[in-house]
Amino acid sequence: MNPFQSIARVLAERQTPIKVFFRDDDGGWADERLQQLAMDFIRRDLPLDIAVIPDALSNQSVDVIGSLLNADGRIAVHQHGFAHTNHQLSGRSCEFGSDRNYHQQYHDIQAGRSRLAAVFGSQLAPVFTPPWNRCTSDTTAALKLLGVQYLSRITGSDSIGDSLPELPVAVDWLKKRKGVRLNTSELIEYICGLFKTDDAVIGIMLHHEHMDHGNRLLLHQFIETLKESQTVSFHSMMDAAGRNDS
Ligand SMILES: [Zn+2]
Repeated sequence: MNPFQSIARVLAERQTPIKVFFRDDDGGWADERLQQLAMDFIRRDLPLDIAVIPDALSNQSVDVIGSLLNADGRIAVHQHGFAHTNHQLSGRSCEFGSDRNYHQQYHDIQAGRSRLAAVFGSQLAPVFTPPWNRCTSDTTAALKLLGVQYLSRITGSDSIGDSLPELPVAVDWLKKRKGVRLNTSELIEYICGLFKTDDAVIGIMLHHEHMDHGNRLLLHQFIETLKESQTVSFHSMMDAAGRNDS
């Protein structure tokens, strides 16, 4: 039996359509697992947005991500911070937090964009995902100046005055509570709650480096459930934002 039947019931009760996108973080790490996950999406002709850490890109990572982009699929890439380093002296981890001033943040974002643009050219989407889904108004001021159009954090993040348009992820596929990963039934209950909202766009955050074969099979079952719904359509992040819609 499909463990996601309860999600199918929630979707059947929804009156309004949902655009779904998948954002996989930490491109540049765990190339083999990234390739496995992305190939699952390519084989099913589904869009996947990879958030790439510029400073983590090895030659091998460039080859892997480059071949995914050229695999006639619907893979997109955008910037995930610079080095995925925690610069916060205390409190929750941030690469672009209050312990980095505007100039430091601008420098890192610019260096990261240059690196990604040199590798991926026009295939680099104008989206920025901050590591740990956290950043400040200095980050968004720098992003605007550097031509980035969308910020992606997690739903419920602190609001940033004068921010960019946001493309938040609502679902953390590897959600933990008190440091422990949700089991399948807890995960389904959590996702059901999020799909009961009226949100027209629901982003789903993945982390390929923590997804083994079994977890990818579970994701496949979840996606099949979504595909069976008349309510759900699949989009890249830029499509979900209303850009590039056909
Ligand atoms: Zn990350």
